[in-house]
Amino acid sequence: MKINFLTQILLAFLLAIVLGMAVGPEIEVVSPLGDAFLRLIQFIIAPLILATLVVGVAGNGDLKKVGRIGGKTVVYYLATSAIAISLGLGIGYLFAPGEGVDIPMENIDESAAETGQQNSVIDTLLNIIPTNPFQSLVEGNILQIIFFAIFLGVGIAAVGKRAKPVLTFFEGFSEVMFKITGFVIMLAPIGVFGLVAPIVGDHGLAILLPLLKVIIAVAVACIIHVVITYSIAVKTLGKMSPITFMKGIAPAAILAFSSASSAGTLPLTIKNTTENLGVSKGTSSFVLPLGATINMDGTAIYQGVAVLFIAQFYGIELSVMQLLSVVLIATLASIGTAGVPGAGLIMLSLVLTYIDLPLEGIALIAGIDRILDMFRTSVNVIGDASAAVIVDRTEPLDKEDKAIST
Ligand code: ASP
Repeated sequence: MKINFLTQILLAFLLAIVLGMAVGPEIEVVSPLGDAFLRLIQFIIAPLILATLVVGVAGNGDLKKVGRIGGKTVVYYLATSAIAISLGLGIGYLFAPGEGVDIPMENIDESAAETGQQNSVIDTLLNIIPTNPFQSLVEGNILQIIFFAIFLGVGIAAVGKRAKPVLTFFEGFSEVMFKITGFVIMLAPIGVFGLVAPIVGDHGLAILLPLLKVIIAVAVACIIHVVITYSIAVKTLGKMSPITFMKGIAPAAILAFSSASSAGTLPLTIKNTTENLGVSKGTSSFVLPLGATINMDGTAIYQGVAVLFIAQFYGIELSVMQLLSVVLIATLASIGTAGVPGAGLIMLSLVLTYIDLPLEGIALIAGIDRILDMFRTSVNVIGDASAAVIVDRTEPLDKEDKAIST
């Protein structure tokens, strides 16, 4: 019997929950399955981005178009992130998850309050320019790889005929990388099972209960952002039915939920948007890697809820100025945050510092951070995909692969 890919992933997910609950922490034995899958998917990322983006930039031979796509992408990313933080703050007010909370001491992870220092915004921006592009590839620094690939593409386009062999090489190489991605993605159901079961086994219900309101607030805000903000954006700007969009991106969203890493999900996000949503490879290989690194709407929502939770817990009233600073700082800070598990928690320390809230607040939610991370990472990935759809569909029609029905 042939079960479709989305159903396979969903079944793996449900099985992981059932077995995780039934077996408890010993289900840890299956975690190498998840780790192996994540490693497989991570090894694809650097060469996939390099090859597809070079082709995306040089293959069009139209640098104006690249600039236009870049502009649209950044504007959309910043706008949706600002909406997301405001939504998080709004839901944080409405749910008031920090009022009357009594957290047992053993659930407080003090060490989390000492999370690493963030670089300044200027450093973060400077750091996008690689001093050695091969080192960027070695280290898998996505923003630097994007920078390198764009310049390579521009160089190839500028040289023209004599650079044709280089372009042909990258075209073949990107096809090969897409093929490899396809092979690896077939293993996603096994990976999802290996990632989710240990989390369910580890986090019994007991640790979740005192902070259930925070989890619900983050989840509700995430769902609203996906169902309302993205649906409207995809429908009005991208002229695509939101149902088609959600269905098409569902496998990547589930993998994001399971792995809590939007960078790790990137190959599947690219595959889903190109194959299921008809986005051209050129657009998706530019918009999505960028999004996986700088666009984090789910993380922004979480910042909003977490800031209010911490303020409420300590009985601190936030001024309008402080709230506006949260919107600004969290939007900027998200640019430098990697799409890896737990990155949002580190970002939170930056936001708390800026608005003078006690850093120890981080320790309060560190225990459930992984659960919140799952929700926010799915939103991060769905947000990136919505950008790819909108940017691609607002480009003049010149691609044969844009003919998806809405
Ligand atoms: N885990 C998130 C991601 O990969 C980042 C975060 O921690 O908020 O997108």
